[in-house]
Amino acid sequence: MDKNIVLDVKNLHVHYVTDDATAKAVNGIDFQVKEGEALGLVGETGAGKTTTALSIMQLIPDPPGIIVDGEINFEGKNVIYNTDKENQAMRGNGIAMIFQDPMTALNPVMTVGDQLSEVVLTHEKISKSEAKQRVIELLEIVGVKRDRYDDYPHQFSGGQKQRVVIAMSLLCNPKLLIADEPTTALDVTIQAQVLDIINQLREKYKMSMILITHDLGVVAETCENVAIMYAGNIVESGSVKEVYLNPRHPYTRGLFDSIPKLDDESAELVPIEGAISNAADLPTGCHFHPRCRYCQEICKHQRPPQRGTGSHKFMCHFDLFSEEAK
Ligand code: SF4
Repeated sequence: MDKNIVLDVKNLHVHYVTDDATAKAVNGIDFQVKEGEALGLVGETGAGKTTTALSIMQLIPDPPGIIVDGEINFEGKNVIYNTDKENQAMRGNGIAMIFQDPMTALNPVMTVGDQLSEVVLTHEKISKSEAKQRVIELLEIVGVKRDRYDDYPHQFSGGQKQRVVIAMSLLCNPKLLIADEPTTALDVTIQAQVLDIINQLREKYKMSMILITHDLGVVAETCENVAIMYAGNIVESGSVKEVYLNPRHPYTRGLFDSIPKLDDESAELVPIEGAISNAADLPTGCHFHPRCRYCQEICKHQRPPQRGTGSHKFMCHFDLFSEEAK
């Protein structure tokens, strides 16, 4: 295995099984994240992005969630077979996750300083005063003043809380940071500040990152690589440059067409018709076929192959935009 690969996900399938139905949330995805690289995982709600993240963290609620097939290799070890103790260690020192809503990560009845210190003390054998010092340093790095150490989460604004959560995720120097829509709940100016902090810290600590978002602009500002998810599949992936300059999958094209273009007043917003399929009742063949304007008979019955060269891959029966690729 390439030593630079921090995370290697192979043929991952994740289902949620209840008495009434089986929701196929992730349906055979493959991707890698290298040391220091950031991958943007993009898609609509229900595409399987968060299920992918929770699977990597080994936090899929079981039942009803089951990893049915595949591998999740973190630093060369398939974490699917981890013991609870190994998962705890991995979540402390290996992989950290930032959620959309900072309150899911913060305990409302503990001061911010105490709960961050507790995280350090759980994972490292250092004294309380050393832990406090580490917490204060990290809070200051993310722009939270040291005199806020004894404040409770409700005393912070949304943007400040997300800064605290970012500091919390970095306390134990993770190799990989998974940020699940970290700026969606924030207003636009604060979003830019939080993204800036994430970018700076990633560089400073040489961290790899998976950024989960529905926002192609955020990925362009933050990531080197991108994977577009639809109905539990990665339908297109490659470097941001490759995919943004020449999207090869009709769904990716649709995502770009639905973004208003500031430099072209005549350009119309073209939304993708229809809604993402229900994971408990996925269409046969290509899962995107009910919404695809290029759909042919074969698309309704056969799963499309993966096409493309080098790192730029897409999943379609046809190479519809090949002329533009030349
Ligand atoms: Fe569209 Fe067919 Fe390609 Fe699916 S396989 S994206 S339905 S053209």
